[in-house]
Amino acid sequence: MILPAHLLIRNGHLCIRDHDTVLLAEEYGTPLFVTDEDRIAANYRDYHEALTSRYPDVQILYAAKANGNLAVLRALASLGAGADVFSAGELHLALAAGMQPGCLLFNGSSKSRADLALAVEKGVVVSVDSFDELHQLNEIAGMAGAQAAIAFRVNPALQVPTHPKIATGLETTKFGIAHALIPAAYREALACDNIEPVGIHCHIGSQILAVEPFVQACGVMMRIAAEITDMGVQLRFIDLGGGLGIPYRMSEERAPTPEEYAAAVMPVFLEGIAAAGIRPSLWIEPGRSLVADSTVLLTRVNSVKEAYRTFINVDAGFNLLIRPAMYDAYHEVVAADRADQDHTVRSTIAGPICETGDILATDRLLPALRAGNLLALLDCGAYGFAMSSQYNSRPRCPEVMLKGSSAALMRRGETIDDLTSAMQPLPWQEQDTPPG
Ligand SMILES: *Cc1c(COP(=O)(O)O)cnc(C)c1O
Repeated sequence: MILPAHLLIRNGHLCIRDHDTVLLAEEYGTPLFVTDEDRIAANYRDYHEALTSRYPDVQILYAAKANGNLAVLRALASLGAGADVFSAGELHLALAAGMQPGCLLFNGSSKSRADLALAVEKGVVVSVDSFDELHQLNEIAGMAGAQAAIAFRVNPALQVPTHPKIATGLETTKFGIAHALIPAAYREALACDNIEPVGIHCHIGSQILAVEPFVQACGVMMRIAAEITDMGVQLRFIDLGGGLGIPYRMSEERAPTPEEYAAAVMPVFLEGIAAAGIRPSLWIEPGRSLVADSTVLLTRVNSVKEAYRTFINVDAGFNLLIRPAMYDAYHEVVAADRADQDHTVRSTIAGPICETGDILATDRLLPALRAGNLLALLDCGAYGFAMSSQYNSRPRCPEVMLKGSSAALMRRGETIDDLTSAMQPLPWQEQDTPPG
C-alpha cells in the first residue's frame, strides 16, 4: 500500500510521523479521529507558494464545512487563511478562530434574513445566489444603515467529472446564477442603494481529479470579469472556489498538486485580468485538499463474522464517517496494529449502526483479524467528523490533534448526557426518576 509522506509503518504499527496510532488508541480510546496539524500546514503552504509565486495578491479561504473544529480553523488562521462559510455557525467559528471578516465569504443558496443581517453586521462579503436574495440583502443593509459588499455566485454550467452529488457547477444544480444572467445581476446590484459589488465567485464541485474543469471555469469567470468591469463594477477579488480532489485510492488515482493546479489555471487568470485591465485579489476556497489527508479514523474490531462475506464489525460506522454510505466513497483501510502481516483475507468493514448501508469498506485484503485489533481509515479529515451524527443515540467520539511531538484532545468524546442535554421534559409527561 502506498501511504502519504506523513504516515509510515513501524514494527507493524501505523504511525503518524512519530505518533504510534496503537498508543493513541490506548490512551484516548476508540473510535478516535486523529488529525495532524503539521500536515494541514504543509498542505496550506503548498497552495500558498504555488499561487503567490505567480501572482502576489492571493487569499486562501478554507472551506470551513470540511472540518469545523476550532483548532483546525485556528491552525489555518495562524497561517493567514480566511474562510468560505456556509452558515451563521461557520461564520461565528471563523471569527472565533481569529480570522478577519475581510477574508471571509458568506456562501449559500438559501440564506435566512438573520444570516444576511449577520453578514452585514460583521462586515463579511456575501456571495449572493439569487436576485431575490440580492433585494432582501439591499433592504436589510438599508435598515442597518450599511453597505453590503457582495459577489455573485456564477453557475458556469460545466460538466465536471466527479460524483453527481458533489458536482455543483452543472446547469441543473441549485447553486448560483446562470452565467448568461450574471451581467444583468451586476447591473441590478449597481442600481441598489445599499449594495456594493466587489467580487465574483464560482465553485464547480468537489473531489475533482483533473485541472481542465478549473481552467474552463476560470475562462468563464475572466470573460464575465471583463464584461462587468466595462459596466463599472470595481472587482476587488475573483474567487475561483475549491474542489481539488485527493487520491483516496492512492495506488490507482492521482490528484493534481496545488502546483499543477496553479500552473494550469494561473495563465488564464493572468491573461484575463490583463485583458480587463484590473488587479483584483485571487481568492480560492479549498476544503478537502487542505485537510482530508491530515486525519485518520481509528476503530477497534468488536467481532468477526464469517457469513456471505467476512464481516469485520468495528466500533465506528456511518454515524462518524458517512462518505462511503452517502457518496460510495472509498477510504483506504490499514490494519493499524498488524500492518506487517500478510494481507490474505478478503474483509468487509461494517459499522455498529442499525442500517444495511453501514459498511465502511468492502472486500479489502487485510491480515486475519480478531476482536480487539485496531483499524485505521485514512483521509478522514474532510467531511468526516463534520458530517457525523448521533444516529442510533451514539455519542460522538473524541478528536485528537497532533503537532510536532505533542498530542492533545481538540474535542472530548460526547457522553450520554450530551445525547439528552437539549431535550426538554414535557409538562404532561411524568418524568421517570432513577430508582433509589
Ligand atoms: C464545499 C465548498 C468548497 C470546498 O470544496 P472542496 O471540494 O472541499 O475543496 C468551496 N467553496 C464552496 C462554495 C463550497 O460549497
